[in-house]
Amino acid sequence: MEMTTRLRKYREAMRKFYRYVGPAEIGSRVAGHPAGQEIASMGDLVPWVRDTSQQPDRSGLIAATFVIDADGRLRIADRRSEHIACAGGGLVLSAGEMFFRIEGELVEVVEVSNQSTGFCPEPESWPAVAAALEQVGVPHPGRFTTEIVFRRCPQCGERNIVKDKWFVCGVCGSELPKEWNF
Ligand SMILES: [Zn+2]
Repeated sequence: MEMTTRLRKYREAMRKFYRYVGPAEIGSRVAGHPAGQEIASMGDLVPWVRDTSQQPDRSGLIAATFVIDADGRLRIADRRSEHIACAGGGLVLSAGEMFFRIEGELVEVVEVSNQSTGFCPEPESWPAVAAALEQVGVPHPGRFTTEIVFRRCPQCGERNIVKDKWFVCGVCGSELPKEWNF
């Protein structure tokens, strides 16, 4: 790809906002709850892990729900939290799950996905995640280690996760569009 085209696509991805597309009852239940913890520097992460009593998973990693908020900031919350709550009800540039390796004061993102059924962000939202992590100064894998492809069923409205390029609604069997459609 030509450099200028690549740069333009990168900037477009950074600017694309995702709105909440999940169930309305969850959206209203979390309204007014505090947003996820803003991580402005690497030094914010270790206290968050301690203060919220996060426990490492079997691989020794700390899992968290994350969003990149409309201002490009990384916000994280307990893994059981809804993304819309982490976002404080606002728009996001990306959302998903992050897995941190923490050794002393050293923090690294080992795995990261765009798995958020609340926002259904595209894999192409990665540049916003990379920019936020680079702002914080946390090393990252340079891509979503797990990419989720979301499509809304045009017939029944179900939010689907497309696996193995099988573009068929899991509820009604209708064909799903090839283009992202939320
Ligand atoms: Zn359907």
